[in-house]
Amino acid sequence: MKTEKSNLLFEEAKKIIPGGVNSPVRAFKSVGGNPIFMQYGNGSKIFDVDGNEYIDYIGSWGPHLFGHNPAFIKDALIHAIENGTSFGAPTEIEIQMAKLICELVPSIEMIRMVNSGTEATMSAVRVARGYTGKDKIIKFEGCYHGHGDFFLIKAGSGALTFGVPTSPGVTKGNAADTLIADFNNIDSVKNLISANKNEIAAVIIEPIVGNMGTVKAKEDFIKELREICSNENIVLIFDEVMTGFRLAKGGAQEILGVTPDLTTFGKIIGGGLPVGAYGGKKEIMELVSPSGPVYQAGTLSGNPLAMSAGLAALNFIKNNPDIYNKLEEKGNYLENGIKDGLKIIGKNFQVNRIGSMMTLFFTEEEVVDYNSAIKSDTKLYAKYFHELLNNGIYFPPAQFEALFISTEHSIKDLDKTIEANLIALKNL
Ligand SMILES: *Cc1c(COP(=O)(O)O)cnc(C)c1O
Repeated sequence: MKTEKSNLLFEEAKKIIPGGVNSPVRAFKSVGGNPIFMQYGNGSKIFDVDGNEYIDYIGSWGPHLFGHNPAFIKDALIHAIENGTSFGAPTEIEIQMAKLICELVPSIEMIRMVNSGTEATMSAVRVARGYTGKDKIIKFEGCYHGHGDFFLIKAGSGALTFGVPTSPGVTKGNAADTLIADFNNIDSVKNLISANKNEIAAVIIEPIVGNMGTVKAKEDFIKELREICSNENIVLIFDEVMTGFRLAKGGAQEILGVTPDLTTFGKIIGGGLPVGAYGGKKEIMELVSPSGPVYQAGTLSGNPLAMSAGLAALNFIKNNPDIYNKLEEKGNYLENGIKDGLKIIGKNFQVNRIGSMMTLFFTEEEVVDYNSAIKSDTKLYAKYFHELLNNGIYFPPAQFEALFISTEHSIKDLDKTIEANLIALKNL
């Protein structure tokens, strides 16, 4: 595989951008080697600066439900840009966006747009604290909620991959207000609540986790979590930045049949542009400034370009509800193909999948939480990753991430991936 240009660009980037990248996991640090610099994307494929072609399973880390550069989003953007890029004054498209999210996700009665998932989760916790008058929050080990100070404690995704349980720069005060429970373990939540009686403002959770790899909440766990939060006046926040509109039009909450008080969104709702949002019960959201005292603002929030791309994506979902069945079929096809490969090499490595999110964990034990996820052999994953890459398949460059299938992945793409998977497994 030719990588001269990518390598040169990486050397140049490292001189002026920390680690050469604007987000850590992109740097390939946990799998070794240099990152590949991309040139353009089209449907299920991405093309790098050295002329290599890949079937992409990252989809910009989640946003590209419809593959790269879908015509209907491009058209919406071209149309929007004619009118200007930003006003800092309200526009009608913001109402359309809010209405559509409220329509597709029944738990959302009111919503505020922001510019990233990180902003959404930080703001959701702030309003939960304002609403309850309490300070502490509970999060789960291995869940990732963006890079806000009080979330960078035993976080998932890059923070997990790089083994930084709590980032330098996070104050002791912040760390003390964040309590850590074990995913899928309701007793760990109960213990924290009884030890911090009337002090907990919010529980935030990825109801279906992508950021320690794909892990689903057990049904009784998430139902009980809902009950406890209601009984204890704790705001239950579902972080659906990844799962919102990825798994179903109503997100993980639709699949699990549990209604949170607040939900955060990002990724897909921006149609590939930088967007986040938080919303939920009107009674809580009305506390957000200027209708209430909880301050939260954004120069580019509700940006017309971002809204038009996002609205195009959500309208497509509304008008094509069958995409989720098709994604499930494709996911199932790829899962079975990968499992066939595992059988051939005689390994029982765990495949966790929900719809179009999937992770192959290099451990033979069931993965249900952080402690079981980290039993994975990350060195084996690194080898597997590079074998796939050399065969034109772009999987996440870290074990503790989900891969994403888009509506544009064809059976031919999946077959090619299954074939490359077998080669990679045999060469481990
Ligand atoms: C990606 C992600 C975030 C952070 O969103 P950014 O847009 O990267 O700030 C938060 N929560 C979850 C569950 C995510 O997957």
